[in-house]
Amino acid sequence: MKKLIRSFALALIIAVHPGSIVQAQSVRNVKGLCVIVDFANNRLENYQGDHPSDAVKSEAEIKEILNTMESHWAWMSLNTHFYEWDIHRITLDQRLGPNAFEGWWEYRDAVADKVKQVVNPADYDANRDGIMDTVFMIGSINDAEYSWAVGGRSINNGIDCFHDGQASQSIRVRAIGNFNHEAGHTRINGEQPDVYGDYDTLGYLTVMSNSWPTPAHGFSAFERCAMGWVSPQIITRTQRGVVLRPAELHLEAVKIPTRNPAEYWLIEFRDKPDSGFGSSQDYPDFRGLAIYHVNTNRQDGGNFQNPPFLRLEKPGKNPGYGTQPRKNDLWAPGNRDMTGPYVGRTESDPNQVYFTVENLSYTNDGMRFDVVIKESQAANSAYTLTPLYRFLRKDNKPLLHRKPE
Ligand SMILES: [Zn+2]
Repeated sequence: MKKLIRSFALALIIAVHPGSIVQAQSVRNVKGLCVIVDFANNRLENYQGDHPSDAVKSEAEIKEILNTMESHWAWMSLNTHFYEWDIHRITLDQRLGPNAFEGWWEYRDAVADKVKQVVNPADYDANRDGIMDTVFMIGSINDAEYSWAVGGRSINNGIDCFHDGQASQSIRVRAIGNFNHEAGHTRINGEQPDVYGDYDTLGYLTVMSNSWPTPAHGFSAFERCAMGWVSPQIITRTQRGVVLRPAELHLEAVKIPTRNPAEYWLIEFRDKPDSGFGSSQDYPDFRGLAIYHVNTNRQDGGNFQNPPFLRLEKPGKNPGYGTQPRKNDLWAPGNRDMTGPYVGRTESDPNQVYFTVENLSYTNDGMRFDVVIKESQAANSAYTLTPLYRFLRKDNKPLLHRKPE
């Protein structure tokens, strides 16, 4: 579902918003708009389908979902960034049916027209780019799976939006991670890419890969840095005794840049919570350093290509593409899969060792390790201090006060 619409969404963004902008500073408070989409002949409350106990049939049931999404987002950001969701209702002129719309595009455009009649779009446009930041459409469509009612996120007619039917599988199992995954795509957050794919290695380490479980997972250092939530410690020269505390409790990460601003490493210390968000029992009791090798030049192809744009660097030779990380895929003292230090090599110079991560030990509240730089790649390191948003303009001017186009 999410995969289906992805390429359309990308094509749209490129076609309609060349040189379009993403705010260069992170927005702390976002007002999300959840819109109940009723039809000329069908309202949310008139649900007729096979899932009467799991479909949403009232504003109260939707409010419960939104409340959990708000808590989840606050948890993901360690209480530094917030979504506050409002509910509004619209009634489309069309009658519900398989041919109500030519396609999902026309459906979303029609919703956007009505939305702009019931709210002031500027109230939901924190970065004032003329596009409502995050609109979550819930269609009063019973159990229908019409092609025009497909899920996933797109930008249509001035709204950055995603859609679910009132009895979609995500709604029925209350997989709120899926909804905040879609919110993670929206421009207000710096438009985080999908991480899942045939060559994904992160899995439960980020909700941009694995968003179905409850309780839901959080973001990895990659998204946190890209959204400006974490300012990573930049390491360009050998540094011993680096300490990271758990990313679940602290906004901390290490970044090792290269001469190519698109290619870098991120390191975070992940420690699975015992309960609540991030603690799904379906996954290992992970505790250790997650080392990510990034090349944002391949970001548009996601992790469906080899090599992927974002890869968890595991001890041993097996990258384990397309699988959830094992406990021993994180670097930690006593991990028997570790036969030596982590050895980082740049894509441009794979024959040369660039740096190693070694001497791992636990501290009272974190992990201590050495980063040993073997070869200076630091020439352009300052260039990589800025988070690399996909549409970040070269001049990097804040555009918060630009007039909508
Ligand atoms: Zn997605």
